[in-house]
Amino acid sequence: MTLHEIANKILQMNKIGITFHVSPDGDAAGSVLSLCQALRKIGKEAYMISKDAISYNLSFLPFSNMLNGECVKPKDGTDCVIILDCGNKERISAELDNFKGTVINIDHHMSNDLYGDFNYVDVNAAATAEIIYELINILNAPMDSDIARCLYTSLVTDTGSFRHSNATTTTHIIASELLKFNISHSDIHSNIFDNKPYEKLKLTGYVLSNTELMFDGKLAVMEISKDILNKLNMILDDSSDIISQGLQIRGVEGSVLFREVDGGVKVSLRSKKYLNVNKVASVFGGGGHVRASGITMKDISLEEAKKLVLNQIKEEI
Ligand code: 5GP
Ligand code: MN
Repeated sequence: MTLHEIANKILQMNKIGITFHVSPDGDAAGSVLSLCQALRKIGKEAYMISKDAISYNLSFLPFSNMLNGECVKPKDGTDCVIILDCGNKERISAELDNFKGTVINIDHHMSNDLYGDFNYVDVNAAATAEIIYELINILNAPMDSDIARCLYTSLVTDTGSFRHSNATTTTHIIASELLKFNISHSDIHSNIFDNKPYEKLKLTGYVLSNTELMFDGKLAVMEISKDILNKLNMILDDSSDIISQGLQIRGVEGSVLFREVDGGVKVSLRSKKYLNVNKVASVFGGGGHVRASGITMKDISLEEAKKLVLNQIKEEI
């Protein structure tokens, strides 16, 4: 299905719920917030569905206070639910079991399961927000600074401030178009990155001090136990800034972070040039992109998870 066809489907709907993946990152939040505002501007009864509240470093986004974890399923009379930036059904941040309306899936994950009634997946888009920018144009919804701020945030977070290999000329062109709406890229950057609790820096220091190198220095291995989080008395929402620091080491190709969570282990994987981390993650039911993926491993200890995943990386690196 083309994006124009998706747009036409959306135009046929009136009451529209919009959601994303659980534990929303900047791309997920920015995409949902911008599409919701745009649909309201063209007269749709649009609202957002989220099981989680938004993290502190994204709470500067316009209307983000409406992402408070209170609306977890479609409201009565909803014609359609649009799911953004979410690769698989299990990770959708909405209860859809009893939903009889249309499900539209718009995403950029290589591992997308095509779980929607209508699906649009562009793996070349650096962020889902690139697709949403196009969609907003096709829908003829007027752009404004609030929408631009949300979309720009998505681009910044999913490209690591335009430094990852996924950023293309399209990404930069869209960014420059958004900047015309009088938004401050510097303020956005500060809100996202220079806004950490003191404990987060302490944690980062601890994790970096304990980082190990494996496979001839090609892999940086990090871990975060519940124990250290308890010691620092903190709840960790996002660790993508920590894992990416592993890639700063000379000679490293990949970085992996094992994090002890309730009921198992969350694994994050990143790579620089050739290691296909999506392939590694998919072996364990995870997924994502070629250079950034994740796995949720249930009922497993940190040590067991490390053994299994490191063995798999050894095959690929
Ligand atoms: P992160 O490591 O920052 O949590 O996620 C990196 C990428 O992998 C993101 O694109 C995210 O959507 C995807 N991802 C993270 N965790 C999982 C998971 O448990 N399952 C799947 N399929 N994808 C994941
Ligand atoms: Mn994304």
